[in-house]
Formats: sequence, structure tokens, C-alpha cells
Amino acid sequence: MEASLTARDRVGIQDFVLLDAYTSESAFLDNLRKRFHENLIYTYIGTLLVSVNPYKDLDIYSKKQMDTYMGVNFFELPPHIYALADNVFRTMLSEFNNHFILISGESGAGKTEASKKILQFYAVSCPSTKLLNNVRDRLLLSNPVLEAFGNAKTLKNDNSSRFGKYMDIQFDHRGGAVGGHILSYLLEKSRVVHQNHGERNFHIFYQLVEGGEEDLLRWLGLERNCKNYRYLVQGDCAKVSSINDKSDWKTVRKALSVIDFSESDTEHLFGIIASVLHLGNLKFEADARGYATIKNNQEMHWLLGIPNQVLQQGLTHRKIEAKTEEVLSPFSVEHAVYARDALAKAIYGRTFDWLVNKINESLANQDSSRKRVVGLLDIYGFEVFSVNSFEQFCINYCNEKLQQLFIQLTLKSEQEEYELEGIEWEPVPYFNNKIICDLVEEKFRGIISLLDEECLRPGEATDLTFLEKMEEKIGGHPHFVTHKLADKNTRKTLERGDFRLLHYAGEVTYCVVVTQFKNSLVGLTEILMSKEPWYVRCIKPNESKQPAKFDDVLVRHQVKYLGLMEHLRVRRAGFAYRRKYELFLQRYKALCPDTWPNWKGTPAEGVRCLIKHLGYKTDEYKLGRTKIFIRHPRTLFATEDAFQVC
Ligand code: ADP
Ligand code: MG
Repeated sequence: MEASLTARDRVGIQDFVLLDAYTSESAFLDNLRKRFHENLIYTYIGTLLVSVNPYKDLDIYSKKQMDTYMGVNFFELPPHIYALADNVFRTMLSEFNNHFILISGESGAGKTEASKKILQFYAVSCPSTKLLNNVRDRLLLSNPVLEAFGNAKTLKNDNSSRFGKYMDIQFDHRGGAVGGHILSYLLEKSRVVHQNHGERNFHIFYQLVEGGEEDLLRWLGLERNCKNYRYLVQGDCAKVSSINDKSDWKTVRKALSVIDFSESDTEHLFGIIASVLHLGNLKFEADARGYATIKNNQEMHWLLGIPNQVLQQGLTHRKIEAKTEEVLSPFSVEHAVYARDALAKAIYGRTFDWLVNKINESLANQDSSRKRVVGLLDIYGFEVFSVNSFEQFCINYCNEKLQQLFIQLTLKSEQEEYELEGIEWEPVPYFNNKIICDLVEEKFRGIISLLDEECLRPGEATDLTFLEKMEEKIGGHPHFVTHKLADKNTRKTLERGDFRLLHYAGEVTYCVVVTQFKNSLVGLTEILMSKEPWYVRCIKPNESKQPAKFDDVLVRHQVKYLGLMEHLRVRRAGFAYRRKYELFLQRYKALCPDTWPNWKGTPAEGVRCLIKHLGYKTDEYKLGRTKIFIRHPRTLFATEDAFQVC
């Protein structure tokens, strides 16, 4: 007894639901810290998995570990991402329904690594045939390709995903992985033309320059020196110790061939990537009238497949459609630079979309029989920079939506189910962020619809008119603040052109950047709402990417905004397991002579009789209108064990 107590003291508790002081944030943190220092990075809150980034390689992802977790009861082994993956997989197979795993957390918290671990687990654990292995390899190899084009070194993460990714893995009725589909959204295109100090452009540029074959570079007109390209030097950190661009290039090359990219596909692809680098080196100067002309022609039109004349004219002129004719109006140097960067961003953005499409074609499932899917959503977390542009607005809005979904799906539905079942329930207070989502997306007066209206008035609309419009329409909103509307103290912290949103995770001040907003989030929410949710919440233990360092303040903040305490309160107030009377009786009726082989009364009465026979204590369960609710997993395990024996 003593020995086990000591062990428990040392390694903490593997499910927060079993924590004695479960309402205390400090107790929560203590448990997380204890486990982290023992290299136990995973902890449950019921079926939600909390993961703390170890920032070092742990020996817990071997094939042997995968085998250990296959087909085992969720709560019987130490918490692991494999246990979650396995549980989702088996629930999908037995209930024949669709699922998604939402992986969230700050940049650098370990989301992408988690999604890769899940994918690897499926790749190894699924039934295998020659055909299925082919799909498996493509699913796995889509990762390095997408990371090369969509990830970059940032201050927070050397391999930061700069796009949101939703990936469906499709399974047949035997559980074989038969296909996949990827949705990408919100690629941070501005990174193509600008990087903050200490950050890089997307990996692929450096991979190409560092690793590209001699012949290829010669053909593309590139030199093997990142310093020669304006789009690669702004962050002043082309070389990073944790990144090997040369070997990554080889991986990407190989992956592209496995995912069915032909020689000519890859030629075009790298031609376009090279053209972006050339474009970045274009310089302009003013002619006698102050109009922009190209100072150093880069001769890369042929990479883009357009006549040089057309490209040059496009970069230095704007086409205006007058009544009967088109008129070319020349740009100033400033405008031409803007046009050059806009073209580079657009080219890169479309290339990325094309790439995702190509990958999807290669993952497309040929067989039309009914399939089930497990979706993996790896979304980059809430971000706050010193200057928050429109891209941050979109990212944070996306997080706001997902938090709402989380609230809806978990907290609300949990409470509603108890109410529906007529089970006593003390409401758990939580902040419902619907009010902020409405502020952004409401028809006619939400920020997006105001933005859309302003975009319809080219030439007239400016950042300022947009701001004024927002002040007029939503000025009274408790979560919206501008310079004009703020009280005296707050005003000191706001510039005239700023607006501030009070997000659920904290306040963020945005400067007004008017850009067309592509709303792919509505679609995403719809996809998710039709599936059963599972959650992985990733936590970053420190800002310096170091192993064995647990920063209490930083972790506490994440525990708060990931909504973990709320989730725990709901789970703890509630019941770990619930099943319809019919199903419960059907499974366990053999354990009681009165219910076996056939129970004559109602299923509810049968369950009552069954659990009386099994000796369930009154505080261990509740009987609702249609379901039995069991408080602790261990009660159910005992019953399940008895069933296995009998
Ligand atoms: P995110 O996607 O949340 O921004 P990543 O998944 O890219 O973060 O993780 C950032 C870095 O942290 C990884 O490159 C890796 O070095 C480290 N890391 C994350 N998860 C793990 C893990 N489970 N084991 C070891 N290292 C990890
Ligand atoms: Mg990531």
C-alpha cells in the first residue's frame, strides 16, 4: 500500500477525473508537472487527452508500443496518443459512424507531431494488403510534402505549420485505410514576401536552393546561396541547426514521386517556386515622370509561361476599364513593389492549392462502397503578435469558432443529456463565446459582412471608413473596442486605426488591413458537426523549446484558455460511461440468472435487476430515462472483466 502511494505521489494521477481536489487549478498543475518530470507527457480528462511537449525524443512510439495499445481497453494502460487513436478506430468500426480528432494548442505545443503519431499508428495497425499499403504510403508521405510547402521556422517553432489542415482518413468496413482527403485553409501567404527577424520563409525555398540538383538549379537560373534572394534573407536566419534542408529536399523529392507526381509536374512545380525567388529580386526605379520601370530584369517570364512584355507591363501598370476601351495607368515605384509582392503571394497560394489537389487525387478512393472516416484537425492556435494583421484575425476567429464548437459539443450536450434523461445535475458555469462569434459573423452587422460591404466600394472605402462603419454598427458591443470608443485608460493603449476584440483567450488589438475574406470555416464547422468529436489538447511547457523545463505561469495560462478546468468539472460532475438500457442489458445479461437468456420485462427493469445482482453501490450509477450512467470507469471494467471470464 505504502509503495503504491509513493509511486502515485511521484508520477501523479493518469486521469484528472480521479484527482481529489479536482476543482483546484493548482492541483491540476501539480499533477501535470509531476508527470512531465517523469516523462509521462500524456494525461486524460475522461476521454480527452492532454499532452505536454517533452521537447526531446521519448522511447514511447515504437512498433512494440503500438502493438501494446492495439485493442486494449482505453483506461487499462497508461495514457497515450495511441490509446486514443485505437479507441477512436474501434468505436468507428463497431458503431459504423464518422469521427474527428481535434488537436489544438499554441504554436509549438506539439499538434502536428500528435497528428503524425495518430497517422503512423493507423498506418501500422490497420489491416494490410498490397493495395492498402500503397494508400498508406501516400497518406504518410503527403506529410513531408505539405510541411515543405506550408511550414516555416518561426520564433516559436522551428517547424511551424503556417496553414490549417483537416485530413480525412477513409476506412472500409474491415478497417483498412482505403483513401484520404485533405482540406487546407488560411495559408499564411504574407510569409512568402516578408519574414520577421529570426523567422524563415516556407521550407521548400531553402530546400530547393540548398539541396536542388546542379542541373535543376542551372535550368531554373538559381544560385546555391540563399543570401542572394531577397525573399529569403529578411529574417536573417537561412540556416537553422535543427533543420537539414539538404536531406529534407531528398525526402520531398522521393515523397513527390510516390504520390504520383510526374517529371513534368515536378518541373513545373519547382519552376514556379524558382520564379517566386526571381520575382522577389526585381527592383524598380522611377522614370522622369515618377513612374515605375523595372531596373534589373530577372528573365523569369518563361518559368511562368508568359511573354516578358506582358509580365513587365503587368507589374508596372494597372488596367482600368473605361466605357469603350481599356486604359493602362502607370504605377509609382511603391505601387509596383506592392504589385510584385502581391503576384508572388498569389502565385504561391495557388501553387499550394494545386499541390493539395494533386495529393487529393492521389489519395482518392477508387471503390465506391460505404466508408467511414476519422478526421484529423490540426489547426494553428490562438496567436497574438505585436502587430496583428488580417491573417491573425482569421486565425483567431477560427479558434473562436472551434472553441464554440467544443463548448457546444461537449459542455452543452453533456448538460442537456442529463437534463433529458432526468438526472440531477448541477449546472457548470462556463463562458459561452457565441457572443464573440456573432460579433464577427452575424449577417448585416457582423465584422465580416461590414468588411464585404466595404470591399464593394473600391476606391472609396479605406481602412478609416471601415473603422467608422464598425463603430457605427457594432460600437455598443461589449467585446469590441476602438480608440474613439475606449475609456480614458484603455485609449492610451490603442492607436487611432486599431480595433480590439476581447476574445475568450484574451484581448487582441488588430490594425485594419482590408482584404477579401475567404470563408472556408463555415464548411469546416459543418464537416465537424456531423461527426463524433475527440480531443487532444497540446500544451507547451516553456517558450525556449527546452526539455525538462516546466514554466508554471505559461502552462497555467494554457490550461485556462484550452478550457481544461471547465471540461474537468463537467466530466467529474458527470459520468464516465453511459449506454442505452437495451445495449447494456444485451451485453451483460449473461452475468445474472434472472436476465439470462431472455428478460421478459422492460430493458430498464432488466438493467435494474442486473446491477442489483452485480452489487453496484448507489453512488456509482444513476438510472436515466433511457440510459444507465456509470460514474467511474473502474465500475464498468469490473463488469466487463466478469463478462470476459463468463
Ligand atoms: P505545433 O504543431 O503545435 O506548432 P509541433 O507539433 O510542430 O508544434 O511541435 C514542435 C516541436 O516540438 C517539434 O518539432 C518537436 O521538436 C517537438 N515535439 C512536439 N511533440 C513532441 C513529442 N511528442 N515528442 C518529442 N518532441 C516533440
Ligand atoms: Mg503545427
